[in-house]
Amino acid sequence: MAQNDDNLLKKIAGHAKEYGFVFQSSEIYDGLSAAYDYGQNGVELKNNIKEYWWKAMVQMNEHIVGLDASIFMHPTTWKASGHVDAFNDPMIDNKDSKKRYRADVMIEDYIANKLQKKIDKEVTKAEKRFGEAFDKEQFLATNPNVLRSQTKIDEINDRLKKGMEGDLADLKALIEELGIADPVSGSKNWTDVRQFNLMFSTELGSLAEGANKIYLRPETAQGIFVNFLNVQKTGRMKIPFGIAQIGKAFRNEIIARQFIFRMREFEQMEMQFFVKPGEQKEWFENWKEKRINWHKALGLGEANYRFHDHLNLAHYADAATDVEFNFPMGFKELEGIHSRTDFDLKAHEEHSGKKLQFFDTADNESYVPYVIETSIGLDRMFLAVLTAAYTEETLEDGSERLVMKIPAALAPYKVAVLPLLKKDGLPEKAREILLELQLDFNCQYDEKDAIGRRYRRQDAIGTPFCVTVDHQSLEDNTVTIRDRDDLSQIRVSVDEVRGKLAERTSMQELLRKL
Ligand code: ATP
Repeated sequence: MAQNDDNLLKKIAGHAKEYGFVFQSSEIYDGLSAAYDYGQNGVELKNNIKEYWWKAMVQMNEHIVGLDASIFMHPTTWKASGHVDAFNDPMIDNKDSKKRYRADVMIEDYIANKLQKKIDKEVTKAEKRFGEAFDKEQFLATNPNVLRSQTKIDEINDRLKKGMEGDLADLKALIEELGIADPVSGSKNWTDVRQFNLMFSTELGSLAEGANKIYLRPETAQGIFVNFLNVQKTGRMKIPFGIAQIGKAFRNEIIARQFIFRMREFEQMEMQFFVKPGEQKEWFENWKEKRINWHKALGLGEANYRFHDHLNLAHYADAATDVEFNFPMGFKELEGIHSRTDFDLKAHEEHSGKKLQFFDTADNESYVPYVIETSIGLDRMFLAVLTAAYTEETLEDGSERLVMKIPAALAPYKVAVLPLLKKDGLPEKAREILLELQLDFNCQYDEKDAIGRRYRRQDAIGTPFCVTVDHQSLEDNTVTIRDRDDLSQIRVSVDEVRGKLAERTSMQELLRKL
């Protein structure tokens, strides 16, 4: 389970590598920072997460359709969307350690680790002192120590907001006033804060033909916006309707640590829902609920999720919230849900000179729709699943095991077929069963080593069931099914195996919960 534990992230990354989930990109050349490759088990888990999202979003919603837009887009797209001028992070370098940081993140960390922690400590102390009679809200509103810290937080947040709007000199002043030191060297010798654009650029066509600077898309959403009318017209869509897309996005992140949480090449699963102006608040609430239900149906632990509503809204948004997950580094953004108004479509209208409007036959009027966006990082979702699944267990007999309790519908393999011994016709019988099961499930076959070790190998990659073929199987056509989580074993007829596995591992059963 998720713990606030720096070590846990290292353990998960180590396990992910050892068992073929995630490798460092170009490892034989000492790796490329913040780029990762998904191995044989990782690609299966990733595909299953995509399938769960796509089916829940597109297949199960009559009014949502899919799209697969190209990564390269006309450069004006990014001018219109505001990314050329404003997709910046404020960076600062430490002159002694030569390390680079995000100025806003350092200030936010200061608030969380110094001031918010102080408040939390006061609350814990008071909870103990007052017991049942403790009224947290009243305490937060009246305790002088809490109020002092809260005022400081508000003041810092206020300056941070202004700094992010362009007052970079004050961001530096704030870092110096708060006495923030480089976590690596302890030095407080900082450069000025500078803006850093996160888009990667490249050139279209050969230089001889006259190069044209284009960008790798930093989000998939714009591919949806520029295709709004194409899809609406050819799909005869009526508002409200949505367009969903899964695809790669690229950001030249200033700091990219924390394994696959922050990468420079990553994958997004985004859906833009087009609504009538004025109805956006209702749809925003509706999508918040739908999306949190999608997460909770997986069973990764309800306490591992929380909403973080944005108080400082981006210029194009009239409401925004993050779904945060309890990662090993603490609660962090997993998904964003944004009410983006008509900002994007209007901007594309202006820059392209083409109308991007919907003609509402009921009201006999044309309008630019408002948009609710849900945007989740596939890689972050992958990390959330690994975090919740990673379990070190001591069994009743005192032995230890490492088991990945991945939700069965997402597990890379649903079942491993194992002959108890590598002789007496058991492998032949096991392969017969395997051939049948392979028609429905992603299966493993393993006949090497003692059965206990083979079970452990399946536990380590999260296979929810093992079907074991023994001598009795040859006599009465039965096998045992071992459950990864409670270690129970039941004996069933070979004919029943398919049904039993489908009941417990299928995507349908997961989707039925929504
Ligand atoms: P953050 O504040 O963590 O940088 P963001 O607010 O910039 O994220 P959005 O622009 O809202 O993120 O992107 C939507 C989703 O895409 C995020 O919720 C996250 O899951 C994912 N995402 C964004 N940047 C990255 C990245 N560098 N690596 C992996 N996933 C990312």
